[in-house]
Amino acid sequence: MMTEPEADCRLCDLYRKRTHLVLPTGDKNSPVALVGEAPGENEDLQGTPFVGRAGQILNKILEEIGLPRSQILITNTVKCRPPVNRIPMPEEMAACRPFLDSELYDRKVIVGLGKSAVKDLLGYEGPMSQIVNTRQHIRIKDRDILFIPTYHPMACVYKPDAREQLKLTLIMVKEEFLS
Ligand code: SF4
Repeated sequence: MMTEPEADCRLCDLYRKRTHLVLPTGDKNSPVALVGEAPGENEDLQGTPFVGRAGQILNKILEEIGLPRSQILITNTVKCRPPVNRIPMPEEMAACRPFLDSELYDRKVIVGLGKSAVKDLLGYEGPMSQIVNTRQHIRIKDRDILFIPTYHPMACVYKPDAREQLKLTLIMVKEEFLS
């Protein structure tokens, strides 16, 4: 069962500038979860993950491969927008981690979108090109769950290869877990 933060959660300093908490969307019973870095400006205003430019890129790729967004769970490592879209601090990710763990616990596969999510969940800080679309396992409470690192949609803006890799990730999880 998912544990949501209190509406006025102040467990880390990210509460200071947020407009809305940004909680997961999609199918809460999906075997597949996508985890991004953090809410941006549009997400903060609307209280929904991946609705800004990154969300548009993600939606386009999902559309291309025929995977409805409603069939997957989409979330971020932290539920409040970091000021000026900076990378979330380790202590902020740690404070929000129990909520993330509760979102991920029942999944069959977790897709880490971009460096921050991969660092938070896998502890990997090297180049994404070395690890993209490999099969890893991460511990969520008492479960080992398949983890696939891939590029964040924003990394795809000027990098066609990153877009191809992200598309490949989503095709893999669709065919293996949602068909
Ligand atoms: S980022 Fe998470 S832990 Fe920090 S205030 Fe927001 S909901 Fe609470």
